[in-house]
Amino acid sequence: MTAGIIDGKAVAARVREGLKTEVAAFHAATGIQPGLATVLVGGDPASEVYVASKRKSSVAAGMADLHQHLADDASQAEVEELLKGLAADSSVSGILLQLPVPKHLDAASLVELIPFEKDVDGLTTMSVGLLAQNKPGLRPCTPSGVIELLDSYEVPIEGANVVVIGRSELVGRPVAQLLVNRNATVTIAHSRTKNLAEVCRGADIIVAAVGVKGLITAEFVKPGATVIDVGIHRGPEGLSGDVDFAGVAEVAGLITPVPGGVGPMTIAMLLANTLRAAQLQHELAAV
Ligand code: NAD
Repeated sequence: MTAGIIDGKAVAARVREGLKTEVAAFHAATGIQPGLATVLVGGDPASEVYVASKRKSSVAAGMADLHQHLADDASQAEVEELLKGLAADSSVSGILLQLPVPKHLDAASLVELIPFEKDVDGLTTMSVGLLAQNKPGLRPCTPSGVIELLDSYEVPIEGANVVVIGRSELVGRPVAQLLVNRNATVTIAHSRTKNLAEVCRGADIIVAAVGVKGLITAEFVKPGATVIDVGIHRGPEGLSGDVDFAGVAEVAGLITPVPGGVGPMTIAMLLANTLRAAQLQHELAAV
């Protein structure tokens, strides 16, 4: 193997330690303890695990755990009422509606009830617009984690040719926007892209957010390129990504493993967003 490994676990731990200090300083200076309201509707086992992990991490960072749990059969009106209450509550810095919600609910309209200054997932239309216009706001967590990894390993972004594979609202589009805002030259590839391997071979940085296990092989990668694997696939041998790690690591300059690459960054950036949300609300209240 020739590629250096981008250690997401170590970067995430460093981000979280730094946040602990920043949260304590903000709390001491303003009397405001940042608080995260995770909202879980129903008992989807995977969602329960994710939410528990977010709550535990927020408490470890010195934040208040303002978790809310509604029953599986909660009506649209009940969830709306809860979200409106959290939006109006000044002790709530960040609101995270855990997705997916049960099928009888309209997730898109629920998400829109989160005000932009509390939108720690960065998924509302307002947050997406702020990102597109490169205006201050809260950015989606996994894409922010990708940028944090590149910065931590001093991978030049400005002027770099980047191919983002995937155009989802959750990962592909926002990561491409963040990279454009940092002056990269970005190509967004997707399921209809022709000659994907050839497109990717021009890239200094590849960000794979495809959801197809092992799609990115060595022939996609220019020697020395940086490869960021957002994909997560569970199999009998454990977790793997969208990138054929063993093959690509022979060609790339830097590569993220799965697990231990992008994955740990998502919660770290959620915590960063929650602190940023508390700061943003404090700034807005002072205007
Ligand atoms: P998605 O299914 O919403 O989007 C996948 C995108 O890939 C689509 O835009 C599609 O056009 C494109 N695509 C699909 N097949 C393709 C192909 N053969 N060639 C080129 N493009 C193709 O998925 P998503 O939500 O963006 O997630 C992508 C992956 O990232 C999944 O494996 C998901 O589990 C993972 N993920 C990880 C994290 C994390 O914290 N690490 C967070 C979110 C998503």
